[in-house]
Amino acid sequence: AAKNSGRNRYCWFDASMERDLQTRNAVEAGLRTGIPKGEFVPYYEQQVDLATGRLHGFEVLARWESPAQGLISPDQFVPVAEETGLIAEMSMSVIRQAMEHGRDWDPSLSLSVNISPAQLKDPWLAQKLVKLLVETGFPANRLEVEITESSLFENLSLAQSIVGSLKNQGIRLALDDFGTGYSSLAHLRALPFDRIKIDRSFVSSINENAESAAIVNAITRLGDSLGLPVTAEGIEDEEIMQRLRVLGVHKGQGWYFGKPIPVTQVRRLLADKHLLPALRARNDETDP
Ligand code: C2E
Ligand code: MG
Ligand code: MG
Ligand code: MG
Repeated sequence: AAKNSGRNRYCWFDASMERDLQTRNAVEAGLRTGIPKGEFVPYYEQQVDLATGRLHGFEVLARWESPAQGLISPDQFVPVAEETGLIAEMSMSVIRQAMEHGRDWDPSLSLSVNISPAQLKDPWLAQKLVKLLVETGFPANRLEVEITESSLFENLSLAQSIVGSLKNQGIRLALDDFGTGYSSLAHLRALPFDRIKIDRSFVSSINENAESAAIVNAITRLGDSLGLPVTAEGIEDEEIMQRLRVLGVHKGQGWYFGKPIPVTQVRRLLADKHLLPALRARNDETDP
């Protein structure tokens, strides 16, 4: 790409950008062919009640099982999917599979799904989700939708109307990655959230950083005042988990409880409750 620079021409397109463009094009092609083939699949991360140690449900996280590259995480394909408008198709495929899996599990278990900013621009989003519920037989009251504050910038009134339709169906709404966006407090009033999720960046540093601990505490008290339960994401060890329990954080998820796993492993977990790492929290309490 730099071959023109010798002639003193303005060269903006360097080798690394060319490589990035190739990667981006490969990902786009992978999305187009892989979504219909079912290569984009749900992985499940345990969400645990911190007071009791009980499994509350799972967050559904997309993974690309690429035949050529192996397992690929969302940061490698969600931005491309958003740019190309393929995000809705990808997410809906993953959510449909999750509903088909989840309907067979214990009815107390909920599923949390992620909806990205581009999807909240679709006036038919609520209808599409409801159609999936009807077609899969997954109950609306076991579904929670996670959105981030960045979803609300471009068209708040459209987001409000979509969310209104979701809530009318009995679907719950969580504010994801709280604390990392702008004007968080105004957003809490603009939409009828049922839950606040504290971003991992505050949680993982809670025992090293006094500011992080103060922020987690403040968000939890805010949730208490507003009647909104709080979930901490990114709990990586026992110390973090115990600190969050002391602060009264209601629910948690993270590698301490378990990394995101495919459906085969979820089934094994649910069939043999002793495999549930979540039970450690409860056992710690009862066993001296
Ligand atoms: P998120 O909703 O904030 O999801 C939590 C992310 O934190 C997940 O990353 C999860 O694997 C990771 N995580 C969980 N526990 C820990 C921990 O203890 N330590 C560390 N270091 N990380 C942890 P993941 O799966 O890479 O997802 C990244 C983001 O991609 C998600 O952020 C979500 O916004 C988005 N995403 C995932 N699946 C979908 C999807 O199907 N549709 C849409 N629209 N977005 C998705
Ligand atoms: Mg999320
Ligand atoms: Mg986060
Ligand atoms: Mg999050």
